[in-house]
Amino acid sequence: MPVDFIYPDYEVVRSESRCTVCRLCERQCANGVHSFSESLGRMQSDETRCVNCQRCVSLCPTRALKIVRTDNTYKQNANWTADAISDVYRQAGTGGVLLSSMGNPRELPVYWDRLLINASQVTNPSIDPLREPMETKITLGKRPGRIERNPDGSLRDNLPPHLTLNSPILFSAMSYGSISYNAHESLARAAEELGIYYNTGEGGLHEDFYRYGPHTIVQVASGRFGVHRGYLEAGAAIEIKIGQGAKPGIGGHLPGSKIVGDISRTRMIPEGSDAISPAPHHDIYSIEDLRQLVYSLKEATAYCKPIIVKIAAVHNVAAIASGVARSGADIIAIDGFRGGTGAAPSRIRDHVGIPIELALASVDTRLREEGIRDEVCIIAGGSIRSSADVVKAIALGADACYIATAALLALGCHLCRSCHAGLCNWGIATQRPELTARLNPDEGYKRLVNLVTAWNNEIKEMMGGMGINSIEALRGNRLMLRGIGLSEKELEILGVKHAGE
Ligand code: SF4
Ligand code: SF4
Repeated sequence: MPVDFIYPDYEVVRSESRCTVCRLCERQCANGVHSFSESLGRMQSDETRCVNCQRCVSLCPTRALKIVRTDNTYKQNANWTADAISDVYRQAGTGGVLLSSMGNPRELPVYWDRLLINASQVTNPSIDPLREPMETKITLGKRPGRIERNPDGSLRDNLPPHLTLNSPILFSAMSYGSISYNAHESLARAAEELGIYYNTGEGGLHEDFYRYGPHTIVQVASGRFGVHRGYLEAGAAIEIKIGQGAKPGIGGHLPGSKIVGDISRTRMIPEGSDAISPAPHHDIYSIEDLRQLVYSLKEATAYCKPIIVKIAAVHNVAAIASGVARSGADIIAIDGFRGGTGAAPSRIRDHVGIPIELALASVDTRLREEGIRDEVCIIAGGSIRSSADVVKAIALGADACYIATAALLALGCHLCRSCHAGLCNWGIATQRPELTARLNPDEGYKRLVNLVTAWNNEIKEMMGGMGINSIEALRGNRLMLRGIGLSEKELEILGVKHAGE
């Protein structure tokens, strides 16, 4: 039916005077947008296939290309937007759930942008990070409630297991399968060089990456793919994934077409079978059940590794986090609703969950009120876009931040939100050999190192401006923040004053 035709969101604009018909764009586009027309003797475009990944724009040697948003429009309607109308057409045509990827793109409040950071003036002078030492090193794990001494007066140093990071930043979970081997290698090498950690996600740990174990967080998710004793022992910490910010309350699904070769071996499932992670862990229906898994994993690894429990930011997150803290977990990771994913139903991604800023503040407040804040550390994630977001998150109560989308951007991702199609032209969210080869891990890992190094230097500058020389002193220091353009209720939840107060 003609109703099934939906005008493409983007148009390819090619400058005929610049185009030399080198056909590079044709070779680079896995979606088949560009082709050479023998009859016309020039390049032509099929915009219905364009996902706006910007690969052709970036590589065109004569800068002949640009992708523009179409000005084709439905009749103006503030209620029935073009996206809402097109989605109805799509679902009426297919009967299917709409899939998308990466984070929630909707125009909902980004509280990071409504929070402003303090700086010292006159009294409590600022510190120049170029002249004075600034400490951004942190440890993650349980903190002892009091100092204990041996009979001879020496300090007892049998501390609970913890992670040590040179910067308060970790690479968040991204599974081998959802991202490529070369993307994983880039993350692992960068984590090692930076003295931080990357996270396997739920896809298991490829045998080549065991050597990065001291900088690896291994994940145990509901599908338990690739989980075995050697895997648990290989990581520096173990993360139990209960929820994910991009798709709280639902499981995951990596189609059988992507379960090939090394991915099938690493996940320990047959080639071609769908990797379906159930929505719940089938052995967890209470905090007591969670506690059993936490202690099973501790027992399996001789109580040598901190256990992280990752939850999505949802309505009752503070109460949930309080329960998780009492389950014996050493670290809670909270993932906000703008967090990325390799594939999610669009409705879930865009409508379920809450912003990390509100979730983080309410969890930190609750754990402090209950006197159990030092029982756990908090990692905040779900669209941390810059060093300023990291500083604000730590001032709101986080010990460290997970980054994933920013890390993928450093590797070349252009946020086309088409990871689920498996045709990533940047070699990241794909398993096609000709595409994965486009991401050179030698360059990728350096770009990640550059990104985190730059952020760490900026964090030091902001700390110096506040007159703080240790990141530990910033944790939960909400006096260093002021809100702007926020309601009384929002300020109350965030626990910050309004700018000018
Ligand atoms: S890459 Fe640029 S110059 Fe080459 S065919 Fe495409 S548009 Fe023309
Ligand atoms: S990883 Fe690739 S497919 Fe996914 S959003 Fe980025 S550029 Fe697009």
